[in-house]
Amino acid sequence: MSKDHTDAAREELGRITDAGLLRRLRTLDSPQGCVIERDGRRLVNFSSNDYLGLAASEPLKEAMIEGVQRFGAGAGASRLVCGNLAPHQELEETLAQFKSTEAALAFNSGYATALGVIPALCGKEDVIILDKLSHASLIDAAKLSGATLRIFPHNNVERLENLLKTVRARHDSNARVLVVTESVFSMDGDFAPLSEIVALAEHHDALLLVDEAHAVGVLGPQGRGLVAALGLEKRVPLQMGTLSKALGTSGGYLAASRAMVDLLINKARSLIYSTAPPPAVAFAATAAVRLVQSEAGASLRERLQANIRQAKGGIAALGSTVVTTVQDSESFPLQSAILPLIIGDETTAMQIAEALHQEGFLIPAIRYPTVARGSARLRLTLSALHEGTQIESLIACLHRHMPELLPAAPPALQVGSDESFASRECGIEAK
Ligand SMILES: *Cc1c(COP(=O)(O)O)cnc(C)c1O
Repeated sequence: MSKDHTDAAREELGRITDAGLLRRLRTLDSPQGCVIERDGRRLVNFSSNDYLGLAASEPLKEAMIEGVQRFGAGAGASRLVCGNLAPHQELEETLAQFKSTEAALAFNSGYATALGVIPALCGKEDVIILDKLSHASLIDAAKLSGATLRIFPHNNVERLENLLKTVRARHDSNARVLVVTESVFSMDGDFAPLSEIVALAEHHDALLLVDEAHAVGVLGPQGRGLVAALGLEKRVPLQMGTLSKALGTSGGYLAASRAMVDLLINKARSLIYSTAPPPAVAFAATAAVRLVQSEAGASLRERLQANIRQAKGGIAALGSTVVTTVQDSESFPLQSAILPLIIGDETTAMQIAEALHQEGFLIPAIRYPTVARGSARLRLTLSALHEGTQIESLIACLHRHMPELLPAAPPALQVGSDESFASRECGIEAK
């Protein structure tokens, strides 16, 4: 019997391989950083979400060690049983201050945050409206809730407004309507039109959740995110994020009103039925939140922005061979650290990534199912720790390899024009 199942697994793997979509784990021989070692090679790393270079930084390593010495290696139980230690409490107070909310709740990961929060607040009587390019954690959480799901085309506020009107007209007035978006999108690096979304949600009496996973630490005053940069803290009732990207550690959080957090303590299943994060991790994450708000954090953000400007300039010089969604620097002075080079074809994207790898650069090709079919890309991310010369040599290398590998005509592709896998898998179409 078990042999049959193993054979079936092999067959399925064969089909994934034939489609050119096999993924496998590869191990780093070094810590996280902008230069890493893998398979005996040194690579300049343009693929990490460790935007401020904090993951292996001295202050956070020291905080983690101090956390272990003072609080041990594990939490021992769920937060509600006896696993709620002082560092968890302190992390949440620090996050609430950082986010200018009454309270915050920490989870094991950003993924666990979405999975805990959304089904706790919405059930089968309710409606959840998501941006089409929402992260898989948000889609999975919405699906788990049992609510009716609606998708609006990426960043299309007009279509969001139409959906809100229809939903309000069709559904029971007691139904809760939850609008979900990211502030900086994880694969395209573009920004949501948050001011307009906030106004629409308010007008139609919908709850709003904004996932700041790629904005926190990077954008806004003291790295408080795009919501704060736009002065919308008091108008976004559910601000979600992760501690695992610019904050360099691990875990997720929701910042919200005291009542909302107290309700989630009673209802969020990923909080209730999972052992609390290791207290040392919460201790180090607290140090990270403080660090990004400090002078040192501000100068890391300045260096990151300078690196983004340099890379963006170099990419622009590649001309029409790439489509990027980097922000217009006239309208908003800050950029996200994610620069997607949309290639289109999966195989070409893989070839370019391989050529860059040969020359000592790690920029993975991101392809279906993480992004839509035919929108394969190199997802280039910058860190505050990159040297100007590393960016220069990368751009030179792109100039050498991209023209010969790309089809003669650049792909006629709009970013976000295709269904992402996460929403497609749910069988929910954009309306
Ligand atoms: C990475 C990410 C998450 C998940 O956070 P983890 O802490 O890595 O689980 C959630 N939402 C978005 C938009 C992300 O990019």
